[in-house]
Amino acid sequence: MYQAAENRYETMEYKRCGRSGLKLPRIALGLWQNFGLEKTIAEQEEILCHAFDRGITHFDLANNYGHPANGLAEKNFGQALKDCLGTYRDELVISTKAGYDMWPGPYGNWGSRKYLMASLDQSLTRMGLDYVDIFYHHRPDPETPIEETMGALSDIVRSGKALYVGLSNYKEEETRKAVKILKENGTPCLIHQPRYNMLERWVEDGLLSALDENGVGCICFSPLAQGALTDKYLKGIPAGSRASREGTTVAQRYLSDEQLEKIKQLNQFAEERGQTLAQMAIAWILRRPEVTTVLVGASRVSQLDNSLAALECTGFSEDELKRIDEILA
Ligand code: NDP
Repeated sequence: MYQAAENRYETMEYKRCGRSGLKLPRIALGLWQNFGLEKTIAEQEEILCHAFDRGITHFDLANNYGHPANGLAEKNFGQALKDCLGTYRDELVISTKAGYDMWPGPYGNWGSRKYLMASLDQSLTRMGLDYVDIFYHHRPDPETPIEETMGALSDIVRSGKALYVGLSNYKEEETRKAVKILKENGTPCLIHQPRYNMLERWVEDGLLSALDENGVGCICFSPLAQGALTDKYLKGIPAGSRASREGTTVAQRYLSDEQLEKIKQLNQFAEERGQTLAQMAIAWILRRPEVTTVLVGASRVSQLDNSLAALECTGFSEDELKRIDEILA
């Protein structure tokens, strides 16, 4: 019988999410990879319980997470709730999303009211929950009127099936529009979930300011560029790593010779700072005041501990930031 560590709230920092009443841990755990068939249920539960023992109260899912079948991560997370974490439901912030291809036909994808309502019901069934804490629209839909998508999110909050709503992968202008509509609907946007890491800095060109101006929190995904911003790939692609698995995008997205050269230099610089590259990459994101939380993935407990140690050294001098900019230029 799992019993959470008594000291679980002693070392984690929690930050208010935008101008809401909700505080989130500075580091949260996502279940996109490693929570399908890649690991046994026991291995998954070990990671999840360890995360909670270390003060990670926020777990991020989506309808389509889980290898090899969409929905498997939610199903396995539901099992973990039954086996160990469920008694702590009121201490957990659980999110899910809809926006990518989920089932056949015209109603299983994108941003219609029809899709979002049905998808959330399916997610709740898979996880065995009455409500999620945060429900996201996973990506903007260029065809559905944004009023319809935001209207569905607002009604979902009113129905009690989600406590808050969020946006993911929306660019600055789309975000401003969506946030305005949600505000008018009386169900303010809690949070935005963009990709942000040292190799992909688009959020710095307007999105972060838009979130700050509107009191919307920010949780950044793929902070380690799916593992590329660690020392893991400096000597090739190790067996068992994400890049070694079929159907993943790490190698093509982050491991060109040019990028590897930058990663090598960053790794050297992190060592000079007395931390691992993973820790420096996380701390570098947390330097931005607009950022609420860094959303990491982990394939084992030791990785999670390594990433959590980023919180022990988050400061950067102006010179250090300049040096990093030079390496990344
Ligand atoms: P990361 O960039 O944190 O990559 C995680 C991977 O990096 C792990 O699986 C592991 O790879 C490796 N790793 C993690 N910690 C360490 C460490 N300390 N040292 C060495 N290697 C490490 O994040 P993800 O890309 O996994 O994304 C995190 C979450 O963000 C997802 O689970 C999901 O919740 C969310 N997300 C949201 C998206 C959206 O569109 N909204 C899209 C993508 C992600 P390995 O398996 O090789 O060991």
